[in-house]
Amino acid sequence: MSALKIINARLGDGNRCTELYVENGHFVASFSSYTSHWETLDLHGQLVLPGLIETHIHLDKACIMQRCHLHEGTLAEAVAQTRAAKAEFTEDDVYRRGAQVLDKAIVQGTTHMRTHVELDPQIGLTGFNAIRRLQADYAWAVSLEICVFPQEGLLNNTGTEALLCQALESGATVLGGCPYMDSDPQGQIQRLFELAVRYDCDLDLHLDFDLNPEGMTVMEVARCTQLHGWGGRVTIGHVTKLSTLPREPLTVLGRHLAKVGVQVTCLPSTDLFLMGREAFHNKPRGLAPLAHLHACGVTCSVSTNNIGNPFTPYGDASLVRQANLFANVSQMGTVAELLQCLAWVSSESARLLRLPDYGLQPGCRADFIVFDAPSPAAVIAEISAPLMGFKGGRQTFSRPAGTLMKPRD
Ligand SMILES: [Zn+2]
Repeated sequence: MSALKIINARLGDGNRCTELYVENGHFVASFSSYTSHWETLDLHGQLVLPGLIETHIHLDKACIMQRCHLHEGTLAEAVAQTRAAKAEFTEDDVYRRGAQVLDKAIVQGTTHMRTHVELDPQIGLTGFNAIRRLQADYAWAVSLEICVFPQEGLLNNTGTEALLCQALESGATVLGGCPYMDSDPQGQIQRLFELAVRYDCDLDLHLDFDLNPEGMTVMEVARCTQLHGWGGRVTIGHVTKLSTLPREPLTVLGRHLAKVGVQVTCLPSTDLFLMGREAFHNKPRGLAPLAHLHACGVTCSVSTNNIGNPFTPYGDASLVRQANLFANVSQMGTVAELLQCLAWVSSESARLLRLPDYGLQPGCRADFIVFDAPSPAAVIAEISAPLMGFKGGRQTFSRPAGTLMKPRD
């Protein structure tokens, strides 16, 4: 039985340190009587946080910028360029690029990911099969949850639904969607709910992705969530249209989403890159207003979405940086607001993904990361990088702190 005793761990602000005990991959209040040997880790007062959670990322189409050419920087161009690149994807190619992102994400402190995987008659199950291999090969560091979705449309793309069903029968656990790419957005939403009920899986939809307040489909998602009793199992991502709503209608909508159990993910890097292209001056920010939605009771998360592709030609896979980016653009700067942004890449993300054993308390899985930072809020404010991380009590990486080489007098 493997056991780890962590001494001089700091769990928050101030100097108070504590001890943590890990047995069989989980935190325990104290070692059982069967445990007679353990390793000891002295953190010398460094800060411990639970591992970070990526609720929305695309490993299958990451790191393809060298194969694409950006001219307009629009969503339509990103979709078209990625579609063209996808025609050349092989299983090994997807595996290699996904592994590159996972390697980066691990050293940034991510211990759980929900990755969206595209299925359509062109790519078939190629991407899915590669991600399944990554799921197995990286289980030592990251729990990978697979969400399959029809990027090229569902009702307008014959053969796609059969592929989604095939994947849901062989390892995918979440069904995604992209209604704005469908010839019948409302119809796609309704069909996805029927499939989610059939396969008893959660839903995670790329809902809308423009700044026109007209044509919102969020109410249809709320209606279907209520109809099928799927509250707490439905997430909508981007939803940039929400940023166009004034306070009063947003409050009404936010309370309704909270009541029926529809959750919201903001993808700040992608949304900032693609939204507001039509404006030369007074560019809108176009991010889903998570702070107000949270105040209305909506479960929210912030996530990376894309890395190194025409949707987002950036990316270090750092959720701390995404949380900082969201804080910066959304003008959140108090300690409470920074902690909220941290929660959107950690504890609130765990709630959104319905992870039962997340945290540092006894019974939780011992997925944790260590920072040289004065407080959890400072991790976000200063974009701190973790010094080391653990998955199920086993160390997965270390990252030495930078060393200054001051000249001697
Ligand atoms: Zn996405």
